[in-house]
Amino acid sequence: MRYTDQVKMPMAYKAVVNKDVCVSTAACVATAVNTFELDQDGLSSVKKQNGNTDDLILKAAQGCPVNAIPIFDENGKKIYPKE
Ligand code: SF4
Repeated sequence: MRYTDQVKMPMAYKAVVNKDVCVSTAACVATAVNTFELDQDGLSSVKKQNGNTDDLILKAAQGCPVNAIPIFDENGKKIYPKE
């Protein structure tokens, strides 16, 4: 038996919402609706990690007007926002 295909593991970004900073625009929900939702206080929260592709999750974070969504890679390194 031969194994010739190399399996590429997908990146797995982790999103965190800083509710102290969130101003309830819902932009992140509009961009990545399977990952973010607004809670009962109207603040964003992560309803399902990796509910969307990494690209969409990063796009949602980049679209947050107050940078309330830091993104970490699978090793815990902060991807966004850059410091
Ligand atoms: S885009 Fe930012 S400010 Fe708007 S709901 Fe999401 S986390 Fe809150």
